[in-house]
Amino acid sequence: MEKVYLKKEYCSGCSACYNSCPTKAIHMKPDEEGFLYPVIDQSLCVDCNKCVNICPLICEGNYKQKAEPAFLVAKHKSEEVLMNSTSGGAFTALSDVILREGGVIYGVDYDDDFRVLHRRTETIEGRNRMRVSKYVQSNIGNIFEQIKKDLMDKRTVLFTGTPCQDAGLRAYMGDSPLTENLYVCDLICHSIPSPLIWEDYKKLLEKEHGGKLTDIQFRSKIIDWSRENSNKTFLFKTSSSEDIHNDERFYKLFFGAKTITRPSCSECQFTDIHRASDITIADYWGIEKYAPEWMDTKGVSVILVNNEKGAELLQKCSKELKYEKRPKEESFTEQQRLSEPVQFPEDRDKFWNDYREHGFEYIIEQLTK
Ligand SMILES: Cc1cc2nc3c(=O)[nH]c(=O)nc-3n(C[C@H](O)[C@H](O)[C@H](O)COP(=O)(O)OP(=O)(O)OC[C@H]3O[C@@H](n4cnc5c(N)ncnc54)[C@H](O)[C@@H]3O)c2cc1C
Repeated sequence: MEKVYLKKEYCSGCSACYNSCPTKAIHMKPDEEGFLYPVIDQSLCVDCNKCVNICPLICEGNYKQKAEPAFLVAKHKSEEVLMNSTSGGAFTALSDVILREGGVIYGVDYDDDFRVLHRRTETIEGRNRMRVSKYVQSNIGNIFEQIKKDLMDKRTVLFTGTPCQDAGLRAYMGDSPLTENLYVCDLICHSIPSPLIWEDYKKLLEKEHGGKLTDIQFRSKIIDWSRENSNKTFLFKTSSSEDIHNDERFYKLFFGAKTITRPSCSECQFTDIHRASDITIADYWGIEKYAPEWMDTKGVSVILVNNEKGAELLQKCSKELKYEKRPKEESFTEQQRLSEPVQFPEDRDKFWNDYREHGFEYIIEQLTK
């Protein structure tokens, strides 16, 4: 096999092929935009075709559930949880159920240099590090293999990720009976930004403020939770002082502008109410219009219960999570990513040409002139 994918739009970097290759012939390599793609070592490949046969973007049905989900509004009862979560704290409630039962959580964390990656944890502290959205594509590494090992050890596992990553895990697990103890949770995902631009942005913050970055929070609750405010709440600290800084550039100039989004997001197969997960979590945008009694300036979640497993998990957190059913039309109206992929701006190619030719600081200068 020469290539797992035909063109970049057909690879989400979910890493299912890398984790599944029986001869370890595949490794994930960053391209010039910093996104990981599978590369096949021809000397190890035995042409078994497993990588393409399981690929969630190729295989029929994309591992999505057939039934329509139930839509719910939800909010954690603890103010502390709300203040330390992106939305209404659904992730904390769901993961607490698994931790209480002695299970394992897989979610997105930072390494020591604030690179974004998937990690495994069995502790509250480890889980708390996974809280709050990191708007950068995470490196899955060999996490799917670790999940299989946990399931073989009879542990219950909750995996959280973007919709394509969830489908990647489904692809990797296939119809294994081990999945009985696996809970899969995804987010409604706007699109996923480049880890390379994230690296440059962090370097810029360190250059401007001195020292090394010591703390980062993409979606803090320094101001009221609302769609309009969500691009104003990025906080960070560096080792040069105890000051907490607020910076809007990553969100406004890049994530919001959609120039640094992965090519496959423009043809995303998962912008659908049929999910590859058991349960889906996101922000309940518009709740102040539809059910003002649910509005909370500290955050509100929408939850899609995609199957029986999702319903069972949700039911187990009814002590800490308040929730009730809502009409699906509300989410259809507010969440574009339930029906259509992101559209790239016309200047995406120009952005990357300028980046390659002149570098990141030139781009920042141009965009802030
Ligand atoms: C790239 C991205 C795009 C998103 N787009 C939308 C959107 O268009 N509309 C919307 O309503 N919500 C979107 N969300 C989801 C939203 O931001 C919250 O993550 C979600 O509502 C969960 O909030 P919470 O309070 O329940 O959990 P929190 O306690 O805030 O937990 C965050 C959860 O997100 C996971 N996570 C964090 N960063 C990443 C990442 N880079 N990749 C995969 N998983 C990650 C963590 O593992 C954890 O499970 C997006 C999230 C991400 C990461």
